[in-house]
Amino acid sequence: MTTHDVAIVGGGCVGLSVAKHLAERTDLDVAVLEKEYHLAEHQSGRNSGVLHPGFNYPPESEKARFATEGTRRMKEYCAEHDIPCEELGVLVVATDDSEEARLGELAEQAEANGVEYEMLDSQEEIQEYEPHAVGQAALRAPEAASVDSQQYVYTLGREVQRKGVTLYLGHEVTGVRETGDGYRLATSNSDIDADVLVNAAGLHADTLAHQVGVGEEYQVVPFRGEYYEVTPDRAHLCQSMIYPTPDPDLPFLGVHYTRRSDGKVIVGPNAVLAFGREAYENTDFDLADLKETLTYDGFWKLIADPMMIRVAWDELNKSYRKEKFAEASQKLVPEVRERDLNKSYAGIRAQLLSEDGELVKDPLFVETDDAVHILNAVSPGFTSSLPFGDHIASLVEEKL
Ligand SMILES: Cc1cc2nc3c(=O)[nH]c(=O)nc-3n(C[C@H](O)[C@H](O)[C@H](O)COP(=O)(O)OP(=O)(O)OC[C@H]3O[C@@H](n4cnc5c(N)ncnc54)[C@H](O)[C@@H]3O)c2cc1C
Repeated sequence: MTTHDVAIVGGGCVGLSVAKHLAERTDLDVAVLEKEYHLAEHQSGRNSGVLHPGFNYPPESEKARFATEGTRRMKEYCAEHDIPCEELGVLVVATDDSEEARLGELAEQAEANGVEYEMLDSQEEIQEYEPHAVGQAALRAPEAASVDSQQYVYTLGREVQRKGVTLYLGHEVTGVRETGDGYRLATSNSDIDADVLVNAAGLHADTLAHQVGVGEEYQVVPFRGEYYEVTPDRAHLCQSMIYPTPDPDLPFLGVHYTRRSDGKVIVGPNAVLAFGREAYENTDFDLADLKETLTYDGFWKLIADPMMIRVAWDELNKSYRKEKFAEASQKLVPEVRERDLNKSYAGIRAQLLSEDGELVKDPLFVETDDAVHILNAVSPGFTSSLPFGDHIASLVEEKL
């Protein structure tokens, strides 16, 4: 039986960041257990790769703190480790009066959170930055950046191994059991014992937590986000990042344009209920996962809200009908045509849903005497990963 002081389940940006901070500050024997044979296979390697500098989040919230600090620390980390990171800035565009009023709220949040911004009050001012975008006003945040998210995760993986962390790839944790002085983790390979457990299993975090009676009032509901790539001859339609004004009632930011650090322009993601936690194609489904979603009270409470039905129908249409996706993209950049968009990758968000039918919008972790279960490492979880992992590592240190 192999024994470690700390076992971290999940080698995404969150689990690896916890490992990095423990390895830097302690002599603890730390292991990361990752079910895949390659890193960055799920959320951390299948996102927009945007550093959100913090204007989207209420002042003094954890999201605001982690995002502003995370943006700064990630840029330093990328510079130090040669990870592609382009500080292109973002334009959040309002296309009507109600959206313009919401931009004012974002500006107040930017001010309070110490995030740099400028307000653009006309189409002409918007087009000085993005000649093909349309809107009546925009908030520009120059600190937003585009990062190669997969390179970031691989770099973290190499770094933690250099610092003495054992990285078990191809080790799916299939069972978690309390032993009285720690945990026994049954895996698809050998069993592993640990004094302290960190559950950073993303899309499967709730399943593992439920096995030890934690977080039973929540369930992860998978929401797929699909991307299209703008053909290279039309990539000039977006110079930086162009976002719609976010709807405060929804946890997702809406279809947006991102110029990636490799110069490709992607559009997306939508947010459609996935028929499986890893159902990356809209033809994929997993019967067990689907049954879990459909037998969860919280899911039926969520979709009892007529607004949610309307949103779900729109998003489903964008998934199965390319012309609907193109229509949503034209709201920000009318010149884009359906033929300019090529299907690209998809990511699946591990969105936590409470049994009351509430989509949990804030990061959520549950601590016990000898474990931390990260149940909702919700967006901007990539941006926040360094300070968030640092924080979880300090909670673990207190337990040992
Ligand atoms: C489409 C999309 C777009 C996004 N865009 C952005 C963005 O632009 N900016 C931003 O800041 N955030 C963004 N996010 C959010 C961000 O990607 C996530 O918050 C973050 O990646 C979460 O990291 P994680 O380590 O918790 O999860 P993951 O990356 O999913 O890592 C969890 C790991 O656990 C492993 N695992 C699961 N179960 C087990 C098991 N039983 N045993 C062993 N290993 C297991 C998985 O294989 C996986 O590698 C986006 C997310 C999505 C899906």
